[in-house]
Amino acid sequence: TPATIIITVIFVIAIVALVTVAVLQNKPLPPKYKYGIVLDAGSSHTALYIYEWPAEKDNNTGRVEQTHSCKVKGPGISSYASSPLKAGESLKVCLQEAEQWVPNKRHQETPLYLGATAGMRLLNMENSLASDQVFQAVAATLQKSPFSFQGARILSGQEEGAYGWVTVNYLDDRLTQVCGLETTGALDLGGASTQISFVSSSYDGSESPSNSVSFRLYGNNYNLYTHSFLCYGKDQVLRLALAHLSQSGQSTVEDPCFHPNFTESKNYSVLYDSPCVSDRKPHGAPVAFTHKGTGNFSLCQQVLKNVFNFSHCPYSQCSFNGVFQPDLQGTFGAFSAYYFVMNFLNLTDTAIPLETVKEKLATYCSTPWPQITQQHKDVKLKYLAEYCFSGTYILTLLTEGYNFNSDSYSNIRFIKKIKGSDAGWTLGYMLNLTNMIPAEAPDTPPLPYA
Ligand code: AMP
Repeated sequence: TPATIIITVIFVIAIVALVTVAVLQNKPLPPKYKYGIVLDAGSSHTALYIYEWPAEKDNNTGRVEQTHSCKVKGPGISSYASSPLKAGESLKVCLQEAEQWVPNKRHQETPLYLGATAGMRLLNMENSLASDQVFQAVAATLQKSPFSFQGARILSGQEEGAYGWVTVNYLDDRLTQVCGLETTGALDLGGASTQISFVSSSYDGSESPSNSVSFRLYGNNYNLYTHSFLCYGKDQVLRLALAHLSQSGQSTVEDPCFHPNFTESKNYSVLYDSPCVSDRKPHGAPVAFTHKGTGNFSLCQQVLKNVFNFSHCPYSQCSFNGVFQPDLQGTFGAFSAYYFVMNFLNLTDTAIPLETVKEKLATYCSTPWPQITQQHKDVKLKYLAEYCFSGTYILTLLTEGYNFNSDSYSNIRFIKKIKGSDAGWTLGYMLNLTNMIPAEAPDTPPLPYA
């Protein structure tokens, strides 16, 4: 009858609408999933990551996936030293967003972690009371969320390096291999620190125990070399380089790492307001100086080489600043600011010879600032002004600092995500704290008819 037809049509439309809404909102999710949330409180910004995995198969590698990320508006939590409550406030929007991405039924059982890195390490060194107040404020906000808050703390540099390595190798499915597939190293560049982590067969951890982390994962033993260089993230190195160039407290500082015709007025007290450079402040400097670009890649490289100390090495071999480093081995994933910068510069392809990469960067650096701003109207000016500096720092750090050469450069992959999840320490941190990576290999299912 016509009535039946109308009812059927309405019914079909309703089903289609419901399915569309469900697909668009990624809801309702199958009930058999578990969730975990990690906040990465970096030096320049905080990001929230939501992970999801099938409830039954916690132990299988590669099963945890990032389903959503949320970038907190405003600066990193360490910037709220003089108004700590605002650090807590700043997280609320992303926490509310997270409530939409985790089914209501799962909120209570979903662990929520916050890990802070080098920005808070520096604040803690400078003013531990302010750092405690920031933690109190963020903890108070996180406590009020419907999730199961598991704590907010500063990660050590070792942890940051090691968890970044776990993330990359977990996502690449390199941890469950019975024997064989080599692991990949991890290179992480933040604003305030930078980490290098890799397995070296010639390194047993005895020469410099503080650079050694041992794991037993899925029945395999790993002896990881890891080091975090505090003050060698790109924002702090910019301060180190400017401090080097402005030693005499002059009113104009010519900087080869910035484009010709770039000028900006800067404050000496702001430049030196960081434990990385505070002891270098020149006496009798004026309040402000003009930061003036000259756009010269090779001079920039010279300046940046000077931020590394190669004069003493108490070990058989070092990277820089007297820090032990065994021979580089295997492939490396380079993420966070390594990726942002090299991606902007169109230089993520490491099959391009290192010499060519340098030539391209030299051409970019010598391009006048007005031309650069014309060509990239959609890019934040602060980032845009710094890509010549940052790209040159990355190449100098890799070659002069870590000893990559024109052959080994191609072993690096500049990456943002692996199989949909961001490369970074957060996933490794959560996997560890939720005991999701067993020390022993899970029992292999019996083969049929075996
Ligand atoms: P952190 O906040 O410590 O994790 O450091 C992240 C670093 O990456 C900071 O130096 C940021 O300025 C930088 N960064 C973030 N996004 C971009 C981007 N799109 N281009 C260039 N640098 C970026």
